[in-house]
Amino acid sequence: MSFEERLGSGEFLIPKCSQCERIVWPPSEYCSSCFGKVGLERLDFEARIVEFSRENDKYFCIVEIERSFKIIAKADRILLAGEIVSISKCGVRNGNYFFEIN
Ligand SMILES: [Zn+2]
Repeated sequence: MSFEERLGSGEFLIPKCSQCERIVWPPSEYCSSCFGKVGLERLDFEARIVEFSRENDKYFCIVEIERSFKIIAKADRILLAGEIVSISKCGVRNGNYFFEIN
């Protein structure tokens, strides 16, 4: 299954090159630096808050994954920059990836 199919079923797997072991983002079948085959790893990854913002009663943040790529996530509480969090929910909605933190 592809990254997107996995994400659609609620599983956030990290796309990693099987040759140079770089994280490949956005997810792709082949590595953008060595053209090696990219596999999906069920990593115990680090997710760190980079930026946090609040809009009325909604919270949004930018989260850096494994000191590599960044995603935008929704949160249901106030978060601090630098805080390590875990992704509680993820998926694909109307063709867009979504991530949630609580
Ligand atoms: Zn590679």
